[in-house]
Order: sequence, then structure tokens, then C-alpha cells
Amino acid sequence: MEGRIVKSTGSWYKVLTDQGIINSRLRGKYRLKGSKSTNPLAVGDYVIIDPEDTEEGSAVIKELKERKNYIIRQSPKHKYKHHIIATNLDQAILMVTLSSPRTSVGFIDRFLVACESFRIPAILLFNKSDLLDEDNLELFEAMSHLYSELGYPCILMSAHDDEDISPLYAILEDKTTLMAGHSGVGKSTLLNRLIPEADQKTAEISDFADKGVHTTTFAEMFFVDGKTSIIDTPGIKELGLVDMDEVELSDYFPEMREVRQDCKFNNCTHINEPGCAVKAAIESGEISESRYFSYLSILEDEDNRR
Ligand code: GDP
Ligand code: ZN
Repeated sequence: MEGRIVKSTGSWYKVLTDQGIINSRLRGKYRLKGSKSTNPLAVGDYVIIDPEDTEEGSAVIKELKERKNYIIRQSPKHKYKHHIIATNLDQAILMVTLSSPRTSVGFIDRFLVACESFRIPAILLFNKSDLLDEDNLELFEAMSHLYSELGYPCILMSAHDDEDISPLYAILEDKTTLMAGHSGVGKSTLLNRLIPEADQKTAEISDFADKGVHTTTFAEMFFVDGKTSIIDTPGIKELGLVDMDEVELSDYFPEMREVRQDCKFNNCTHINEPGCAVKAAIESGEISESRYFSYLSILEDEDNRR
């Protein structure tokens, strides 16, 4: 029987099938060969389960279907391993706020770089529009201009306003969307309004199998309707990046990807090499300084991880 993992606790999985949700698990200490991930399966995975074959009262997962894509976070315990957060995503939405609290540009750019590296289209949702003063509105206009030109749609909204929420349905329709954001930006407020009562987030908390044991939280998939789902990532602060060498990073900045072919050296890291087309584009204003600053900061962190 085919199904999709909608929740993972690390030891067992909730698999949504034609016949509803079936608790399932892997038999024994299953590991995917050659996998660098600390978890073999994740929310979003399509799997084959056998409800006739059970272990500890759960159906046994027999097979993992090929993944379209996935996103990771770095494993805190193993430096060279990572943890898959979610798979088979159509898009990712980052919810940010310019006021109470203000989301940093560095955080936004890191999220976008991670999405680029996994080839997942990203959208920026600016929440708490009702709190914006004139200066903040100007900042929104500037950011919206910058990021939409780069290919990331920007939406200004308030999660308290139905009129603002209704256009989101068209964006989400028939897709699997990852929803991320720093705590306090209003993600739960929005999710609780988008997701029908029966599938509401709060209803899920009490049946956590190992409640109280782990402080780690897990991604979970919620349904807006049968074909429209949102994956929430509570407690996940930052997405990890794929293993890359430093020359590759500029490929994940769309505006640098375009000009870096013109750098004098093809292994240019755009720091202080002569004949660097990226630096020239920054000087001419074609590439924004804030984006370049994020680039340098990510480069430095990646260097430190090596
Ligand atoms: P989360 O941590 O991202 O899940 O944030 P919550 O949904 O818990 O929201 C944090 C606080 O922001 C709550 O007090 C919400 O009522 C408030 N909030 C959410 N959306 C808006 C909004 O659009 N405008 C205003 N003024 N407050 C909001
Ligand atoms: Zn360069």
C-alpha cells in the first residue's frame, strides 16, 4: 500500500494512505546505504507499507520511493552528518516581519541560499503589515523590489486579516509547501487559520509518542485540502546547506550566478581577486551590498565548518 509520511517522531511514522493514517515503522535498525543523513525517512516521503506485516503494532515500511528533493538541517551531534527535515517539496515560504521582531536580512538570505541549493522555489511572506510605520513600509518596498527581481515573490500581509489570507490559497493550491520562520513572526496564527479545524495543529500535540522525552521537535504535514499541504517546521531555526566548495556558493545567489562567468579566474570567490565581475557589479550597484554581505558571511561560516 502506498502512502506519504505526514509525521515522524524518529522511531515511528504516520503514513497517510487511501485508508487514512496508519502508524508505521521501519524494521530494526534500518539505514539507507551510503546516506549521510541521521534519519532514513522524513515527512513528505512516499513509501510502500505492509499493514499485514506489523512490528510493535505498527505497519512495516517496505520501501522508500525516489525523492524529488529534500531539505536538511545540520546535525548538532555529528558534524559531517545531517538531518533531513522534509522531502518532495514544491515550494518554501519564509514568513518574516520587519517589526516586532525584525527578521534579519542575513537570516533571509541564508534561507534563500538553502532553497536555491536544493532547487526549491521560495516566497517571502512579510507578516504584521498592520504594525508597519512609514519607515518600515519604505523598507518593505525596497526589500520587495530587491527580492522579487531576484525571483522571490514578496507578499505583505497580516495573519489577522481574512482579506490578506484568502489570496494565499491560490499560491498553496495542490502543492506541498514548506513553511518556515523565526518564532514570534505569526506562523502559528497563520497556519491555524489556513488549516481546517479537524487537522488543526493543537489537536496533534497530545498524542506525541515520546512526549516529554525529547525537546527536539519534528516537521509535520498539515492539509489545507486533500491535495494541498503545508509542512510546518517547529523549532528548526535554520536550514542546512548541501556540501559545497566555496566556488559554488555564488551559484546560489541568482544575481551572482549571472555575472560570475565574467570573472577573470573561473575559481574566483569574489573576495579580492583581480578582474572580479561580481565586485564590479557591486560597485556599479547592479548587485546589492546587503546580498554581498550575506554572501561573505555564509562563505566564512562554511569555511569554519570545513
Ligand atoms: P509564531 O511563533 O511564529 O508561531 O508566532 P505566533 O503565531 O504565536 O504569533 C506571535 C504573536 O504575534 C502573537 O501574539 C500573534 O497574535 C501576533 N501576530 C500574528 N500575526 C500578526 C499580525 O499580522 N499582526 C499583529 N499585530 N500581530 C500578529
Ligand atoms: Zn569574482
